[in-house]
This record gives sequence, C-alpha cells and structure tokens, in this order.
Amino acid sequence: MKYLLLLCGVIFSISNVTQAAEVIHWGYDKEISPEHWAELDEHYKVCKTGKNQTPINIVNPYKSAIKHNLKIDYKATPHDIVFNGHTVQVNTKKDDHSDFIVVDQQKYYLKQFHFHTPSENQIQGKSFPLELHFVNENAAGELTVLAVMFNIGSMNTEWNKFWADLSFKENDDKNLSRTLNLNNLLPKKLEYYRFSGSLTTPPCSEGVNWIVLKHPLTISQQQLQSFKLLITNQDNHRPIQPLNGRIILED
Ligand SMILES: [Zn+2]
Repeated sequence: MKYLLLLCGVIFSISNVTQAAEVIHWGYDKEISPEHWAELDEHYKVCKTGKNQTPINIVNPYKSAIKHNLKIDYKATPHDIVFNGHTVQVNTKKDDHSDFIVVDQQKYYLKQFHFHTPSENQIQGKSFPLELHFVNENAAGELTVLAVMFNIGSMNTEWNKFWADLSFKENDDKNLSRTLNLNNLLPKKLEYYRFSGSLTTPPCSEGVNWIVLKHPLTISQQQLQSFKLLITNQDNHRPIQPLNGRIILED
C-alpha cells in the first residue's frame, strides 16, 4: 500500500510538471499584463518587437477607391460556447464552412467570435464599452478579424440566446441549445475601416487583416456587467499599439 501511494505521488508530480511546461499563463493584470507578455515566453516576443500590432486608434483613414469590397455570409448557427479564462468565446463546428466572409475575392470561414471590454480598437480616440471579434480563416490559414463595437443602450436579444448556455466555470464548453442569427450581431450598414495588424493576445502574430465596422450596436448595462463579472479585474483589453506608418483604409 505504501509503495502504491508513493508511485501515485510520482506519477502525479510528473503530470504536474508537464502541465506547467505547456501552459504559459498570461492575462490583463499585474505581472502577466500586456506590458509583460513578451517576457513570459520566447514565442510571445513579437508582442514587443512587432511593428504591425493591434489594437490601434483609427485616425486619418484614406478613402478607399474600391467600394463595398466586403460580403458577409453568416447563415448557419455556431456550435458551442466557452469561458476560456480570458473571454467568452462562441465556436463554429470544426471544418464547418457554411459561415464565411468575402474580402478581396477571397473566402474566410468563421472559426469563432469573442468579446473584449472595454474595446481594444478606438475610433477617432473613442473607446467603446465592448468590442466583438469575429475570427475568420481562409484555406491558407490567414486570418481576417471582423470587429463590431457596442455602446450601452437597448438590450441585445441575440446575446441572451448564447449567454443562456454559458457555464461560468473555466473551459467548461457547452453546446448551444438555441439557433443564433449572427446577422443580429452585425450593423445594417457594413461601412468599415481596414488595416493590417496582429492577434491582440499572445503570441501577437502579425499578418492579420482587420476590418472594424463603423456603426456600433447596443448592449444593456446589465448584459455588459454579467460579462465583466466573469473576467479578471473586469477588463480584457490590450492597450493601443503604435501605427508605425501603417495606412488605414475607409470604405
Ligand atoms: Zn479578440
């Protein structure tokens, strides 16, 4: 019996070490906050050295000569919802290609959407209470993030449909029980700003296309509060990054 306990102890500590090596903890507060991301792991270096980082303050955009270059075709319902410790994320089914956007004649398929509070990007210096990121990927693995801003106002009924299935326990993935209409999470007018950027979370990889829709939607104070209560320090946004001569296009 004594031998068995000892053996179990050894196995337990080995698996603990493996876990510690795999998970590099990052966040938005104190010693793991965005200013420290680059120091936390070698793979996060570009969070500091990158020159095309997101979020940005959208100022002095150039009027694009190409009009209406964006088509959004989100028609199927997403599959599951999870609080992953950083945000609330709604995922589409793996390899489901029924939801996509078309930019520059290229199809990008919806992988997931998630939220940041307050907004990460700013429009003319204005921060919004909430920003939604639709993450889309093309066949080559390149990303286009479609961002939607939210002001405080009327309740968002679509939000309630997925929130009802959310488990407040970390990484406790739940299947969605209601049919979502993602068009209700998009403004009617699809005017946008566009720029080249990065992931806003580690490893801050660059080469990400960003499309920020100009017209905000609304969420109620109560809905925003329920999200804030879930996340650490009621804040999961990365601060504004330098433009470094990048051009912002406006549709
Ligand atoms: Zn995001």
